[in-house]
Amino acid sequence: MDIEKLIIIGSGPSGYTAAIYAARATLSPLLFEGVAAGGQLMLTTEVENYPGFPEGIQGPELMPLFKKQAQRFGTRIVSDDVVSVDFSARPFTVKSGDREVKAESVIISTGASAKWLGVPGEKEYGGRGVSACATCDGFFFRDKKVLVAGGGDAAMEEALFLTRFATSVTVLVRTEALRASKIMAERAMKNPKITFVWNASVTEVVGDGTKMTGVKTVDTKTGATGEMAADGLFVAIGHKPNTEIFKGQVELDEKGYVVLHDGTQRTSVTGVFASGDVADHVYRQAITAAGTGCAAALEAERWLASRE
Ligand code: NDP
Repeated sequence: MDIEKLIIIGSGPSGYTAAIYAARATLSPLLFEGVAAGGQLMLTTEVENYPGFPEGIQGPELMPLFKKQAQRFGTRIVSDDVVSVDFSARPFTVKSGDREVKAESVIISTGASAKWLGVPGEKEYGGRGVSACATCDGFFFRDKKVLVAGGGDAAMEEALFLTRFATSVTVLVRTEALRASKIMAERAMKNPKITFVWNASVTEVVGDGTKMTGVKTVDTKTGATGEMAADGLFVAIGHKPNTEIFKGQVELDEKGYVVLHDGTQRTSVTGVFASGDVADHVYRQAITAAGTGCAAALEAERWLASRE
């Protein structure tokens, strides 16, 4: 079996940027794209803060450009999802549904995914009222009444964005305090279309079988139950890193993010690197993910060279 020099797992801005750098360094990387190819930008519309696109660009238009640039220098891309890895022996093993590949080094760029409430009806009415992305779906709620679950910056941003379309936006916060930054909280509080319900936790999404019609709630302080009518529910309660397959293989923090060492992209396993949102719960931007993808590729290149 051939041994790859470098395998990159993930195809968001970070994975593709790592691939561009590694391919230009003649490492001929093998990149596992996965079924959610392109990452979180595929779920967004207008990207206005990615440098080099002064007029903005659609997320699903930007990602194929990353891919094309990675392929131009010889990145080989497979569309499989990686199902398991073994970093306990060298060369490392990376398995997907129908192949097993050995590699001297690996870059983990599997990103993060939106968290869901996990209540009855949420999945059933997903795309039929329930969403985790206002920029993707807000447009469908023109003149409708919508709810936002969450109290962080993401929830404020979603609520503010939704006021462009919805007649009213009600933010359901499970405690008495917002986690959002002061400036975002104030902006949301000042908006006449936005109201807040405190200590409100969604227990069920209800609907008529075709679309959602409202939610059931419980007051987290008094235990009182209630029901609210609404056409949409935007869940904005944070993200979780996609690290299921790396448990027990590299060091993860208590929230599941890959732990990096010495201010670099190095993980707890020599020769395994991580970049992008999978190791970053702070910045979570396409440009920071791309930047750390570049850094991970440079690290991998240097490490491989040092062994020759
Ligand atoms: P946060 O972790 O900051 O906030 C999550 C919010 O969701 C909290 O209010 C939390 O409540 C609530 N929550 C968590 N789980 C549940 C649940 N099961 N049911 C109900 N509510 C729940 O995540 P964000 O995604 O908002 O932000 C992540 C990071 O990204 C932050 O650093 C943020 O500052 C940044 N960001 C910045 C933006 C900006 O500045 N424009 C925009 C978006 C994000 P509790 O407090 O009770 O745990």
